Amino acid sequence: MNRTKLLSKLEETRHWDVIIIGGGATGLGVAVDAATRGYSTLLLEGHDFAKGTSSRSTKLVHGGVRYLEQGDIPLVLEALRERGLLHRNAPHLVHHLSFIVPRYQWWEGPFFGIGLKVYDALAGKLNLAPSRLLSREETIRQIPNIESDHLLGGVEYFDGQFDDSRLAITLARTAVHHGACVLNYTRVEGLIKSNGLVSGVRFTDTETGRTHTAEGSVVINATGIFSDHIRLMDDEKAPRAVQPSQGVHLVFDRSFLQGDSAIMVPHTDDGRVLFVIPWHGKVLVGTTDTPMQTPDLEPRAMKDEIAFILRNAARYLARDPKESDILSIFAGQRPLVRPPGKNGGATKAISRNHEVLVSDSGLVTIVGGKWTTYRKMAEDTLDKAAVLAGLEDRACVTEKLQLLGWRSPNAEARADWLAVYGSEAEDILALIAQDSTLGDWIHPKLPYPAASVVWAARHEQARTLEDVLSRRTRALLLDAQAAIESAPTVAALLAKELGRDDAWAKSQVDEFTALAKGYLAS
Ligand SMILES: Cc1cc2nc3c(=O)[nH]c(=O)nc-3n(C[C@H](O)[C@H](O)[C@H](O)COP(=O)(O)OP(=O)(O)OC[C@H]3O[C@@H](n4cnc5c(N)ncnc54)[C@H](O)[C@@H]3O)c2cc1C
Repeated sequence: MNRTKLLSKLEETRHWDVIIIGGGATGLGVAVDAATRGYSTLLLEGHDFAKGTSSRSTKLVHGGVRYLEQGDIPLVLEALRERGLLHRNAPHLVHHLSFIVPRYQWWEGPFFGIGLKVYDALAGKLNLAPSRLLSREETIRQIPNIESDHLLGGVEYFDGQFDDSRLAITLARTAVHHGACVLNYTRVEGLIKSNGLVSGVRFTDTETGRTHTAEGSVVINATGIFSDHIRLMDDEKAPRAVQPSQGVHLVFDRSFLQGDSAIMVPHTDDGRVLFVIPWHGKVLVGTTDTPMQTPDLEPRAMKDEIAFILRNAARYLARDPKESDILSIFAGQRPLVRPPGKNGGATKAISRNHEVLVSDSGLVTIVGGKWTTYRKMAEDTLDKAAVLAGLEDRACVTEKLQLLGWRSPNAEARADWLAVYGSEAEDILALIAQDSTLGDWIHPKLPYPAASVVWAARHEQARTLEDVLSRRTRALLLDAQAAIESAPTVAALLAKELGRDDAWAKSQVDEFTALAKGYLAS
């Protein structure tokens, strides 16, 4: 995924079948779908892939136990099916995880036990493993530091866990592998119209400041919480289609949650679901659901969101996590489909379904959904877009499409930093074999060697220090202070790979440090 080569391809191509705006889960999913149907495909991402919501999720590939409770059976069925497909097509990025719903009241056993049996049944053949009731002793054995005062037992069920921005990068590379041109740092500034119909886009390469145009048979708006900005470029009277809803996660040391199971709290004090999850050697706790008026690419957690998570986590953990224990705080905004006439109000009740909208001038917008269903969202979008654009009818092939790095599920899974690279782990080890300094860790507290930086620059279109420390590796989310301390080392490695000078490396360190401070507890 060499950016220079992709830029040349862009210059050479006069007309694209499909142009996609936005390189998060949704846009990248559409790019993979379009390219594998054989359509010429261009994707333009204004910042980095997954810079928006798609790197800030709870990292679950799940049917959504909460949606079951809300009675949204079609959504749960669709998501459970997609969970199974994603595990089959990207086993290096998705794995099964045990979740335990702790029981402190007598009625919680039958209530959650029956609910989770329904969840098992809905998954059908794609169920990961049957749910079961656990005694108090079994619950404590699986989660040694669960709050044991008044604990009666638990209910265990299984769902999927993944690494969101690594999946995004894998989708980008898979799309390129199948012939798409997928570029980060290309911001769409306007739409081009011919005879009143959208026929292309105007965009800026934000690295060079150069503006370009691209023509396409159909333009697909997959900009998440920014979808309404693009819709307004098309029609200044377009009604708002998206309701952003903010969710925050706190990251702690693994000592707060030992064992291999996650905790799932079905009802917090504001009626939300709270997860306490082991992830990349740390513990992730979240999330919140706060309606926001304006979308933000780099949202910040509010004080009461942090207090809410700390307060609720303390109820279920033997050792109460304090603000001073926080290793990283990250916030993201869900691009929820705005219910008609809705202005403000609780967002936790808004459905997580997706919708494909087509404007009078032919702009296709895909909003809502979740990471888990990105593949189905892409299929629905392309089915509609292809008919609209009069493209040759070609069937979707992504149900059985193995993503780049796919490895046989029978092969022994790695448990270290190389796991997310799947079958490409050998190529990264070869880099270290050629130059042993690439095996040096970028920081004693981070599980990443220099080779991961070099690989990101050469093969994953990493252009800035933030790309490497936030989305190619997950350093910023795992330990913000350690990420800041690693910045000079990583910037020097990246500058060498990208042919940049010391001044560039220094400015990258300054920019990254300013951003990363927002991930530290105050
Ligand atoms: C707190 C939280 C927890 C979640 N947890 C889960 C979970 O566990 N499991 C799950 O399945 N889902 C989860 N989700 C939902 C999931 O993360 C989102 O549905 C998904 O990431 C949305 O992806 P997207 O591509 O639509 O948006 P984004 O990822 O935001 O992508 C949109 C992209 O468009 C780009 N863009 C904007 N304007 C322009 C322009 N003018 N030109 C070019 N590019 C532009 C942006 O830079 C951005 O990268 C969670 C969401 C949140 C907020």
